[in-house]
Amino acid sequence: MSYGLSCAHCHSKVRIRTSTADHVLLRTAYLQCTNEACGATYRASFEVTHLLSPPAVYNPTINLPMAPSAMRREARSGDPAQQFDLYDDFDDETDLTQLEEHGAAK
Ligand SMILES: [Zn+2]
Repeated sequence: MSYGLSCAHCHSKVRIRTSTADHVLLRTAYLQCTNEACGATYRASFEVTHLLSPPAVYNPTINLPMAPSAMRREARSGDPAQQFDLYDDFDDETDLTQLEEHGAAK
């Protein structure tokens, strides 16, 4: 999965090589450029910062601010198919296996 992320240097898509869940609201991912001629790798953090709508099942240990209206409007205007999902498709085993098949992972 590339999630629409691109390499800062060659602008090719990057894939998530592996990731770790640091907290229910924070995930660290290790990214690899899909351009074999480039081969850049990155460390990235994905953080849940705001609520866009209140949950139906409330967890009192989670303390997130409600997003301001401008932020909620911005979220509605994007294409949902292009949006990053923090939890889905973080199939580390699959991604790492695919890279190993191409000789890219160590
Ligand atoms: Zn690159």
